[in-house]
Formats: sequence, structure tokens, C-alpha cells
Amino acid sequence: MKAVVYHGPRQVSVDEVPDARIEKPTDAPVKITATNICGSDLHMYEGRTDFEEGRIFGHENVGEVVEVGDAVGEVKVSDMISAPFNVACGHCRNCEEQRTNYCLRANEPGIAGAAYGFADMGPWQGGQAELLRVPWADFNALVLPEDARDKQDDYVMLSDICPTGWHAVKMSGLLPGETIVIYGGGPVGNMAALSAITMGAAKVMVVDRHPDRLRLAEQIGAIPIDDSKGSPVEQVMEQTNGLGADRGAECVGYQAHDPQGHENNSLTLNDLVQSVRFTGGIGTVGVYVPEDPGGPDDLAKHGKARFDFGEFWFKGQAMGSGQCPVKRYNRYLRSLIHEGKVTPSWIVSHDLPLDQAPEAYKHFDARDEGWTKVVLHPNQTG
Ligand SMILES: [Zn+2]
Ligand SMILES: [Zn+2]
Repeated sequence: MKAVVYHGPRQVSVDEVPDARIEKPTDAPVKITATNICGSDLHMYEGRTDFEEGRIFGHENVGEVVEVGDAVGEVKVSDMISAPFNVACGHCRNCEEQRTNYCLRANEPGIAGAAYGFADMGPWQGGQAELLRVPWADFNALVLPEDARDKQDDYVMLSDICPTGWHAVKMSGLLPGETIVIYGGGPVGNMAALSAITMGAAKVMVVDRHPDRLRLAEQIGAIPIDDSKGSPVEQVMEQTNGLGADRGAECVGYQAHDPQGHENNSLTLNDLVQSVRFTGGIGTVGVYVPEDPGGPDDLAKHGKARFDFGEFWFKGQAMGSGQCPVKRYNRYLRSLIHEGKVTPSWIVSHDLPLDQAPEAYKHFDARDEGWTKVVLHPNQTG
């Protein structure tokens, strides 16, 4: 089968590799019809993780089940399914408690949480390929309704960014009628904005500096805040009568940088503490890592940040962190898509065949204007 293989910093190619197949009776191989390039792929693509050369990218996957192992009972051949980016066993304590993001059995002993094609997240290959092996298929596959193919650019967002944006807002504690500021207008930040609007936020502000991303935020009724035109904190204060937003979401992660490009992993966190009111809540879903050898200084290299804990504590704020437990939300978001209440594909700028992945990585990594979200379609020739 063909797959997008990592060969070192900013080097990917579409290679011929062995087919994904049944290795355990609980597996189902899936023919991928849509698979996204994600911002977290870019950390790996840039060589800012210990992702191994020769591995396949891709954790945001939709496809058709082509075979099922003997122990798979619910999922059927020819079902169209969404695979959460979290690989989870379904039976461990964390899975039973809806924390599939910290499954205790899908990674090596001592590390909780696993994902397809992801650094430090277990041995699982990614889905930017013609086939993907979905383990514990009855648990991990979400069967899609009859409009699965027509709306696959919407459903493909169910693997990660749509639930991840939702999770950021849930962790912030947003109530209907409250205000929220979202730092980062990339795919996840814009999904957080869509989520907050869907949950009934009175005012949603999205901070970024890329005009294409800010336009997407504006299209769904969020207020764009351009941090290259002045302090985002001051702009949030102006929007909230000087009180700060009720809630905040961090959708940037450890490679946060100022408009001039200087990296500072605490930049958005500290801006959030400033932008959110006393006793407000903050959800952080942007990726942070325990070790970042490519970081700009000694603290950052060891995953540490100059976080304004004093101000955070003084304001009595709360913060949630970590990757999203996709299964907690995906079936409900599936229904919102099916019923036409949300259309997460509005952020998609490019639908491309798998062969064009190397070019797509280049443009998406460079944040080139107009490359807001790329969906690859492995089993379509283009
Ligand atoms: Zn992702
Ligand atoms: Zn588990």
C-alpha cells in the first residue's frame, strides 16, 4: 500500500509499504478515504519530537472497513467509520472512566495514552495511507450514518480537532451566556470557537495573526483578534468591559511564538491568565511535551515554561490540560454533523490525493496563506 512516511526533519515521501492487516482478532483494517494533516503532525514533521524515521503519519482518519478479526462483533465489513486519534483498549480503568486519552494498555508499560502515527504514543502506524489497522475495533471505530461519504470532510474532523476543540471549551467550564477567548485560530482553535458558539457562548474571541484563519473565525460569528496589531490582552479587555473573558482556551501549544517569530512556550498561557477574569477557567489542548531538544532555551528544552503561577493563583483560576478523550464526545458530534447543526468542514482549504502529501506538508508547515486545513484522499486518484 502507499503511505506518507517520515524520513527526517521536513522530509516526507509517499512510499510503498507492507499492507496494514489483521494482527490480533480484535483488529479491523480500514480502507482510508479521508485523512487530515494536523498541526501536531507538524511538530513531528519539523523534527521537534523523537518520531522515528520510517513511520507513517496520520491520526485523523475516516474509511471503510474491509475485513474484521474473529473477535470483532459490532463493526462490519463495508461500514464507514471514524477512528478517534486515541487508540484505547476499552477495558482498563481509564477507558472505563471515559479517559480513553490515557488508556493504560495501548502504549508501553508506564505510559498512558496512545495514538496512530504519533511520537511517544505507542507503536501504531498512521492513516495517511491506503489502509489503517484499527485495533480493538469494536471500541475504537465509530460507525457513520448513510451520509458518511457525502459529508466525509465533516466526519473526518471527528477523529481529533472537532472533539479536541469541544474538549478545550468543556475544560474551561463555559456556561451558556458566558464569554470565551481562544488563543490560536488554527484548525483546533477554530473548532473550539465553533464548539463555544454551539454551546451558547455570548461572545467568542479568537486570537491569531493569520488573516485566513481570522476570516474563518469571523465566518462563524466569532470576533477575530489580530495580535500582530496590538496586545491581545488589551483587545480582550476592550471586548469585556475591562473584566476579562469568563473562559479561555489554549489551542497553540509549545511552539507558541510572537508575531516576529520568537518562540516562547509560556506566551499564550500567560496571555490567557491575563485575559481571563478572576475565578475564570482555562482549557489547554495545544500540545506541550516533557522534553523538547529543539527548544529555544534550557528551560524549554526540558519541557518547562515560565508560567505566571502567582497571577494565576491570585486570580483563583482553574486550568484543565491534556489530550482530548475523543470517545467522550464523538458520537454526539456525529449527530450534530448528521443533522446539519455543525459543519466543521468549513475550515478545509484543500482536498488532495495522497501523492500530493509532501507538497501539502510544505505549505501547511509554512502557514502559507490559504492553507488552513488539508484533507488527503488516499483511495482516489487525482
Ligand atoms: Zn490531530
Ligand atoms: Zn484502556
